[in-house]
Amino acid sequence: MFFHVILTTECDLQCRYCFGETLEDFDEDFADIDVEYSLPKKANYDFAQLAGFCRKDPDCVVTFYGGEPLLCASEIKQIMDMVKPKHFMIQTNGLLLDKLEPEYVNRFHTILVSVDGNEALTDHYRGKGTFRKVIDNVKLIVQNGFRGELIARMTVMEQTDIYKQVTWLLDNSEFTFSSVHWQLNAGFWGNDYARRNFKNWSETSYVPGVKRLARFWVDQMEEKGRVLRLYPLLGIANSLLFNEKNSLLRCGGGWINYAIQTDGHIIPCPTMWGMKNYYLGHVIDADPLKLRKFFVTEPCTACKILGVCGGRCLYANITKRWSSEAYATVCNTVRGLVSAVEAELPRIRQLINDNRLSLRDFEFMKYNGCEIIP
Ligand code: SF4
Ligand code: SF4
Repeated sequence: MFFHVILTTECDLQCRYCFGETLEDFDEDFADIDVEYSLPKKANYDFAQLAGFCRKDPDCVVTFYGGEPLLCASEIKQIMDMVKPKHFMIQTNGLLLDKLEPEYVNRFHTILVSVDGNEALTDHYRGKGTFRKVIDNVKLIVQNGFRGELIARMTVMEQTDIYKQVTWLLDNSEFTFSSVHWQLNAGFWGNDYARRNFKNWSETSYVPGVKRLARFWVDQMEEKGRVLRLYPLLGIANSLLFNEKNSLLRCGGGWINYAIQTDGHIIPCPTMWGMKNYYLGHVIDADPLKLRKFFVTEPCTACKILGVCGGRCLYANITKRWSSEAYATVCNTVRGLVSAVEAELPRIRQLINDNRLSLRDFEFMKYNGCEIIP
């Protein structure tokens, strides 16, 4: 099982799609969901309880999460000294990566660092100077011996040209990433759709950009014999190649990938913090292998591509913060992604048949924080 350990609810950035939206969205509430807003700002339970909880699952993976988890470097060190999961990972904005000693950083199996593309775009979304600091820090950790997987985690919305930004991250003079994941800012807030241009952008820029990216991805396989870890493409290609018919939610939220709040309560996914109806127990006595499971409901259950999509996002499906019409525009992006990969599948199969690639090149650790369906 995978557990996002939420160390703090605080963050040292004020990104447009997160802090900016909380300002615009402050009067929105969840109709039928009882939300506890007064959670402790920092993890306040005994980490020995977390150690005991993890011991019950031989395949336990712990991912530090926030807010910004590196605001709690000392708690990270305490946990890494005390808890013995199979792997540690972290999702961070990268600003404080230089503050954690290499002996800890180098133990991470995977680091997901938020970067939205080139300097202009990253700083536009995340604040001036963010890009420079983050890139300096990722260079530093590699220099200091980090050899795990470093994934550029992009948040994507209307100002993003997906093809341009992903290809930039893969090849530039600053820092070259070989693993990239992106997630759409869609369905998380209550009243943003009406004031945004999401539909038009997704149809005229994003989906065509994803198709172009899928072509580029396979061109790279043909020209260089390498499968770049572009997670949304990789995840879909993996299912198609391995004949997986009925994917469950690909982020794992609610069935294999849970989160632990700052007060120690377990929830289906980190975004569902405070949603009391979904509390699944507490690290003090819960069994990680017997947690209740949640699955998406309508409209996903009636959707023809549920088996390949998996339902995209449990939080969006439960809270229905976007109207049916808005939800459908997001589903069109999923269809676009799936058909973009399907269109390239004959070329991929040919490369495998010619022994220029192997099926193993399309394997990856699932539920590592990449949701696959953006
Ligand atoms: S495409 Fe949309 S409706 Fe269909 S399974 Fe995915 S999220 Fe659900
Ligand atoms: S995709 Fe949705 S359900 Fe999955 S982890 Fe993200 S917010 Fe949670």
